[in-house]
Amino acid sequence: MDTLAVTGGAGFIGSNFVHLALAQADAHVVVIDALTYAGHLESLAGVRDHPRFTFVKADIADQAAVEAVFRDFQPRWVVNFAAESHVDRSIDGPRAFVRTNVVGCFELLEAARGYYEGLPAAARRGFRFLQVSTDEVYGTLGATGLFTESTPYAPRSPYSASKAAADHLALAYWHTYALPTLLTNCSNNYGPYQFPEKLIPLTILNAVDGKPLPIYGDGQNIRDWLYVVDHCEGILRVLQEGRTGDQYNIGGHGERTNVQVVDAICAVLDELRPARDNPALSAQGIRRYGELKQFVPDRPGHDRRYGIDASKARRELRWEPRHDFDSGIRQTVCWYLDNGAWCAAVQASNYGRQRLGLGAAQPPVTPSAVHGR
Ligand code: NAD
Repeated sequence: MDTLAVTGGAGFIGSNFVHLALAQADAHVVVIDALTYAGHLESLAGVRDHPRFTFVKADIADQAAVEAVFRDFQPRWVVNFAAESHVDRSIDGPRAFVRTNVVGCFELLEAARGYYEGLPAAARRGFRFLQVSTDEVYGTLGATGLFTESTPYAPRSPYSASKAAADHLALAYWHTYALPTLLTNCSNNYGPYQFPEKLIPLTILNAVDGKPLPIYGDGQNIRDWLYVVDHCEGILRVLQEGRTGDQYNIGGHGERTNVQVVDAICAVLDELRPARDNPALSAQGIRRYGELKQFVPDRPGHDRRYGIDASKARRELRWEPRHDFDSGIRQTVCWYLDNGAWCAAVQASNYGRQRLGLGAAQPPVTPSAVHGR
């Protein structure tokens, strides 16, 4: 049986992908994950005993550990999700981002190259390495336009710069060594198993606890929200049918301002768990979740708008998101309400939902750095 190696498979998107791959692909799934603050075996609880599942605790920036994975498991497919993924943390501490996102991706590519070059011709034909990336590498949009695969890279945070570097390495390994790499650039994901430092799970959990719902700046920054399972289906499709050496945008036609996202969550909670039935709110005299909204200082360098043109994936691979924002956000709120044990477990170690990423003064935005003004 073929082996699918999934780095970062204990994180948000990776764990959703592992669940999908075990259900849909006839493959042995090996997760390689360092279990940082963002990686949790609880997110894989449902598959730990699956006969086609193996977990390896390893750091992708550790050359020997990565080489051992290729030697021991001889993967046919590699999907690299492992990353430091939070822009705010990249502002406070960019070193870990360069180490994991750049050096880690490099070590994976190097190990893959050595492994690939030693394969017999028939096995070489099936090998694929998919680098999972983000639309943030394209920089920021003005009021109009969408990112296409030919939009020039213009990353503006340490996070997106580190992802951009990895993207360039992945494609360079195709052009230079003919290593069959593929690249996906996806918009913001939401859904089950997302660590509650990110906007949507943080808003849900703070709201339920009757805590302030922080909104950065004027709340008008726009992201193109995609339900995580749709992203995972897109990755599987690119892995199976994409052209090697090629790049695919994946996005949800789900542009929303941050205020609209918070309002949507509050509306679902008002319906599913009304404030009058929630002592955390009723004790404060709060009647609607929206009363918890609180505007806070903006993120330094906060990109204004992201929007994805995913027509290439639709045209060439017949990929379409199956969830719209309204149904996806409802499912997501329900998931967090139903999975209190997971929420408590992942926050137990060292996370108190504190504000992160205020480490720098905001530099001016130069017009040339903004697409589609
Ligand atoms: P996440 O932070 O939830 O998970 C990252 C996982 O990688 C964790 O399990 C962590 O333990 C693991 N990891 C971190 N450093 C590691 C290392 N050195 N070695 C091995 N494992 C390590 O991230 P996510 O939101 O699931 O994102 C997954 C990937 O998708 C990332 O590459 C990210 O850039 C990309 N992406 C994310 C989004 C989004 O909205 N979350 C959108 C587009 C692309």
